[in-house]
Amino acid sequence: MSRTIFHIDVNSAFLSWTAVKRLSEEPGSLDLREVPSIIGGREGSTRGIVSAKSIPAKKYGIVTGEPVISAMKKCPNLVIAELDFQTYRNYSHAFMDILREYTPLVQQASIDEAYLDLTGTEELYRHLETEEWKFPLSVAYEIKNRIYRELGFTVNVGISENKLLAKMASDFEKPNRVHTLFVDEIPKKMWTLPIGELFGCGKRSAEKLMSVGIMTIGDAAHTDLSVLQSFLGEKGGAYIHRSANGISDSPVRVERDAAKSYSNETTFNPDITAQDFDARVPQIVKWLSESVGRRLRRDGVYISTIEVSVKTNEFKRRSRQKKLPDSTNSTKILQQEALSMLRELCMGEGGVFSEGLGIRLIGVGGSGIEDGTYRQMSLFDFVGESDKKESTGE
Ligand SMILES: [Mg+2]
Repeated sequence: MSRTIFHIDVNSAFLSWTAVKRLSEEPGSLDLREVPSIIGGREGSTRGIVSAKSIPAKKYGIVTGEPVISAMKKCPNLVIAELDFQTYRNYSHAFMDILREYTPLVQQASIDEAYLDLTGTEELYRHLETEEWKFPLSVAYEIKNRIYRELGFTVNVGISENKLLAKMASDFEKPNRVHTLFVDEIPKKMWTLPIGELFGCGKRSAEKLMSVGIMTIGDAAHTDLSVLQSFLGEKGGAYIHRSANGISDSPVRVERDAAKSYSNETTFNPDITAQDFDARVPQIVKWLSESVGRRLRRDGVYISTIEVSVKTNEFKRRSRQKKLPDSTNSTKILQQEALSMLRELCMGEGGVFSEGLGIRLIGVGGSGIEDGTYRQMSLFDFVGESDKKESTGE
């Protein structure tokens, strides 16, 4: 049976939420969304990076992830607001609560986005249909407008038959829009896009594909699987081939109470041995810690336990955990702790290397999430090996 899946994404979440909070505290004051503004680091500091920007700020060429100082050079009148995770958590909860009124099948994918499965609800929502909007658009407009009315911020809704296409659709023109990307719309709406815009196609994969003339998502869709695999590896090539053709069968997972963890791992070839541990592992740990730390900070959560794991060349998993004196979301702390734990696990007494084994996978992660609500971005479950594209909270 064909499914009805929504992907709902808050527009410029951090910036919108800060703007809405300020307006609620001081009605009639400056709306950050209407002037060049950014969410930067701490109050009074210019050392942070831009974590969200208003649409007027975007017109000055300001991009998410750039240093605040460089954004200030592009726009001298820039308004800078500080990160305020407590506010983000509050609005995120309120947003998710509204979504759950429409279906119990809500998968929170990050602090500001969720998938909804509305399959089979057509009769239930018949009353929402208008001359202009039939199901499922009628439901999408109802949810979008209700969030704006009750909470004061805008969202984009993407509608399709699977999560991948719904996610792609919500990323079309912003803000405050509903878009469909049904399977029969793929050639017109998706195949014309640059390959780098395919969800899950990381920058490196996109560069590789473009260097061999695969410029659009359509080009990838029409390239033989074996050719894509020869450039991107078996798993990566298969992912791109399926996705470019709009195929994704991942279910909307409701995991509200599932074990919460943030982690990332990577495999390598050849195996790491005692001789090249120092030459290779610190770099890998840095990269893994960055990806975990970034997700923690984006979701406004902290971990209290760090975990590392390795898989040996005999496919045995070994892991270590360490409870931290203070919970953290700092990449630097993750990196330092994880590296010393891995050193112990591999080089220590009775460690992996003492048994003459090599390692081919390293994982770094954390658990004991300080805020009880947010979980791993389970979208990553269907993204290829190490080439993962992250949501930017935009
Ligand atoms: Mg967003």
